[in-house]
Amino acid sequence: MRIVDIREHAVPIHSKQRNSRFDFSLMDTSVVAVVSDVIRDGRPLVGYAFNSFGRYNCSAMVRERFGPKLLGAPPELLLDEAGTNFDPARAVECMLQRERNGAHAERCIPVGTLEVALWDLVAKIEQRPLYRVLADRFNDGRFSDRVPVYVGGGWYAPGQTAEDLRREMQGYLDAGYRMVKTKIGGLPLAQDIERIETLLRVVGGGPSLAVDANCGFDRERAFAYAKALAPYGLRWLEEPCDPMDYELYRELAQAYPHPLANGENFSGARELDNFLRYGGFRPGQDVIQVDPPLAYGIGEYVRCLEVSRRFGFGPEAMYPHGGNLMSLHVVAGLGLAACEAYTGVFGVFGGFGDEVSIGEGMATLPQSPGIGFERQPALWAILSQLTEGA
Ligand code: MG
Repeated sequence: MRIVDIREHAVPIHSKQRNSRFDFSLMDTSVVAVVSDVIRDGRPLVGYAFNSFGRYNCSAMVRERFGPKLLGAPPELLLDEAGTNFDPARAVECMLQRERNGAHAERCIPVGTLEVALWDLVAKIEQRPLYRVLADRFNDGRFSDRVPVYVGGGWYAPGQTAEDLRREMQGYLDAGYRMVKTKIGGLPLAQDIERIETLLRVVGGGPSLAVDANCGFDRERAFAYAKALAPYGLRWLEEPCDPMDYELYRELAQAYPHPLANGENFSGARELDNFLRYGGFRPGQDVIQVDPPLAYGIGEYVRCLEVSRRFGFGPEAMYPHGGNLMSLHVVAGLGLAACEAYTGVFGVFGGFGDEVSIGEGMATLPQSPGIGFERQPALWAILSQLTEGA
């Protein structure tokens, strides 16, 4: 059993939306395919993944550095003890050979994306959906058959009116969602507050609305927003400032009475450990949002859970970034709090495919072997092109 090919392609997201700091007009993502020599129904089994949302492609790193390491490794080094399946942890070990400790941000995305693709392959070889495999490996076999989801929406868009925003959010409620998130920081504070009040009238109250500043605030603006937002009792205030500014987070946590959120820009367990040590996050209240393919993959996510536990944060604090099937499986298999959902943003990469339905704020789970991208037709049209002729 061996990996015979690794294919990669950078695909534009095609989006005009923007957050507090930048627009997504040039945004793309890497789609990867790890091709094995395991043959089912006359075709090789392939693991697929992409590097989530809002980070540019990692093409060169996959093609020139980490893909060749996997392809060049003795095949048995990438297998589990029994030799009957691939072992993503061993694959990560292999990719990190001759790499330094530190400088994690340089490599956590290509390694994480390839690692998640390997999990897709592992679950396909076991002929089970990925969340079931993860539950057995990491969660004593426990899994949810429906998981809470919330919508990452409310982006800024050219010419957007209050009515546009209201209609967008009403659409999410009509589609079965109960909690939504909106961007803040892209307009002056007073106008952002107007947006929030518009949205609260739609969703019904602060606990159903989170806000995301995408690291856009300096100290003065962060405190101005914290003060203005406090009366609304919002579900959480996400990334008010630079994710590594532990001191400012610590001070905000002392001043702001409602939940804060951080973590989608962490490279893995080491950065999370440092942040929880010094950033003032409050167990039982604040929210952690590490995104597996952006942070060395699912094995590293399990280490993030272990780190979080040491600081008093259980799975109920974990809301992985990334409204996609990869995060959905991780939430279901590891028993986490909720998964983000992107409906109508990030083009074909958003959404969960035709096996998943939404109702009462919960998502059902795919039953296809692996992650189930094959049942997400517009995305599958792109992924399957990677392996034409394989
Ligand atoms: Mg965010």
